[in-house]
Amino acid sequence: MKVEKTDFLIVGSGIAGLSLALKLKDFGEVVILTKKRKFETATSLAQGGIACVMGEDDSFDLHIQDTLIAGDGLCDRKIVELVVRSAPERIAELLSLGVNFDRDPDDPRKFHLGLEGGHSRRRILHVGDYTGRAIENVLIERVVASSNIRLLEHHFVADLLLSETGEGRRLVSGVLAFDLLHGEPKIYLADFVALCTGGAGKVYLYTSNPDTATGDGIALAARANCRIANMEFFQFHPTCLYHPKAKNFLISEALRGEGAILLNPEGKPFMHRYDPVRKELAPRDIVTRAIDFELKKTGGECVYLDITHLPSDYIKKRFPYIYETCLKYGIDITTQPIPVVPAAHYLCGGVYTNEYGQTDILNLFAVGECAYTGLHGANRLASNSLLEGLVFAHQASLKIKELYPQLKGRVPPPRINEPKIEDIKDEKIFISHNWDLIRKIMWDFVGIVRSIKMLEFAQKRLNLLIEEISANWGGFYLDLDVMELKNIAIVAELIVRSAISRKESRGTHYLLDYPEKREDFLKPTILLLNGFSI
Ligand SMILES: Cc1cc2nc3c(=O)[nH]c(=O)nc-3n(C[C@H](O)[C@H](O)[C@H](O)COP(=O)(O)OP(=O)(O)OC[C@H]3O[C@@H](n4cnc5c(N)ncnc54)[C@H](O)[C@@H]3O)c2cc1C
Repeated sequence: MKVEKTDFLIVGSGIAGLSLALKLKDFGEVVILTKKRKFETATSLAQGGIACVMGEDDSFDLHIQDTLIAGDGLCDRKIVELVVRSAPERIAELLSLGVNFDRDPDDPRKFHLGLEGGHSRRRILHVGDYTGRAIENVLIERVVASSNIRLLEHHFVADLLLSETGEGRRLVSGVLAFDLLHGEPKIYLADFVALCTGGAGKVYLYTSNPDTATGDGIALAARANCRIANMEFFQFHPTCLYHPKAKNFLISEALRGEGAILLNPEGKPFMHRYDPVRKELAPRDIVTRAIDFELKKTGGECVYLDITHLPSDYIKKRFPYIYETCLKYGIDITTQPIPVVPAAHYLCGGVYTNEYGQTDILNLFAVGECAYTGLHGANRLASNSLLEGLVFAHQASLKIKELYPQLKGRVPPPRINEPKIEDIKDEKIFISHNWDLIRKIMWDFVGIVRSIKMLEFAQKRLNLLIEEISANWGGFYLDLDVMELKNIAIVAELIVRSAISRKESRGTHYLLDYPEKREDFLKPTILLLNGFSI
C-alpha cells in the first residue's frame, strides 16, 4: 500500500477544512483529502450568511444572548462568548482574502445586514443569497494557489490510524484513505489530523444537506473511542422547497427576515398561534414544529411561504438564486407563495471538543459541523455555523502551532500498518436497500416530534441492521456506498441512543412523553460507540 507523509492532514474541503489549511500552511506541509469534488460541501450551499456584530444598534451581549436563548439552556457560555467576540476578527480575515460581502445600497461604507429567526438585530453578512458559495470559492482559490497545500479530490478517509506513546497516551498517526478515482487504498501519515467532515443530514430521508453529509468524521472519531455529544439535537429547517423535481433546495430564513409569511395548506397564516410575538421569526425548532402540527392537522403535503408583499425588483435583487431556482420549477416567487416543507438541516452535536477543537486524542482535532463545541446547545442560532467553522479553525491552528514543536516527527507509527481491504461479494441492491431503510427509520421515528415508543422501535430496527451490516460488510471496502452506509448506521444509532436518554423536551429535541424541560438534564449528552465494530 502506498504511504505518504505530511505535517498536517485535513479531512474535508468546506469552510472548516479550507480555513484551517490556510492558517497552517506557513508552518508545515498540509494535505487536504476530500471525498468528492472540492466544492461539494454544505458550505457551498449556505445561502443566508454569517452572523457578526456590525450594526450600530447591536452589541456582543445581544448576539450572546440570542445564541443562548436559541440554545435553550445547553450552550457553553464561555464558548458562546469566544465565538461572538472573535467574529469581527475572523470576518476581517475573510474580507482580506477577498470575500465581498454585500454593501448597504444607501451607505456603501457599511455592510448590508440581513435578519434571521432568533436574532434580535440585523447582523447577517451575506453575498446575495449565495454566501457559502462566495466564501468557498475564495477559500479554494487561496488554497489552490498555495504551494504548501495539496488538495486531493475523490479521496475518502475510511479510518484513523492510532498509536500510543511510551507513557500510554493515545495519538493519531494518520489515516487510511481510498483514492476513489484510481480504486487504490493509501496511507497518509501526519503529525496532526483534523476532521472537518461536515454534518450528517443524509441519515434522514429528507434533508437540505449535500450527499457528502454522512457523518463520517463522527463515525471515525467514535470508532477511535472519542466522546460524542448532543446527537439528539438535529435541527430541521422549516422551509425546503416542496417540488417533485427539486432535490432538497433550501428557501433561506432570510425571506422570513424580509417579512415573508407562512400560510397553512388552507392558505391561512398560523405562526401567531404558536409564537404570538416572534411569529415567523421564532427560532427554527418552534417554526418547524408549528409546520409539522399544521400538516398533521390539515392532512396537507406542504405549507406556503409568501413574500409577494415585497416589490418584484427587490426580491429578484435580494434573492437572485432562490428566484431563479424556483422559476426553473415553474414558481414565480414575486407573484406566488412558495410550497415548502421541513427537512433535516443541521447537527448541533458531534465529536466532543474543547475550546481549541481538540478531541479526546491529543493530536486529533474536529472542526466545523462535525464537532460539538458547546456553541449551539440544544438548537443552533441561524448563521452561527459558518462562523463556528471559521472561529474553531483559528482556535485549532493556535493549539496545533503550540504542540507542533513537541510532536513534530515524534508521533509513533500506527499499531496496524496494513489494513485489509475486502471485495464486495453481494449485489449492490443490499447496500442501497439498507441505506433507504436507515433514512426512512430516522425520518419516520426520530424526526421533528418523537416519543419513547417511536425511538425504541427505531433503536431495535437499527440494532438489527447494524448486526447485519457487521456480519456482511464488517471490514474495509473500496466502495463509497458501503463505507458511508456504515457511517450513517453509526451516526443514526448515536442519535437514537442520545434521544432516548434525554427524557425531556428542549431545543430541537421534542419528546411527546416528556413535553417539559427538566433541571436534571441541563448538561450535554455524552456517548461512546456502542461496542459494535462496523
Ligand atoms: C442548504 C444549506 C444552507 C445553509 N445556510 C447556512 C447559512 O446561511 N449560514 C450558516 O452559518 N450556516 C448555514 N448552513 C450550515 C453550514 O453551511 C454548515 O454547517 C457549514 O458549511 C459546515 O462546514 P464544514 O466545513 O464543517 O463542512 P462542509 O462544508 O460540509 O464540508 C465537509 C467536507 O468534508 C468532506 N468529507 C466528509 N467526509 C469525508 C471523508 N470520509 N473523507 C474525505 N472527505 C470527507 C466533504 O466531502 C466536504 O468536503 C447551511 C447548510 C445547508 C445544507
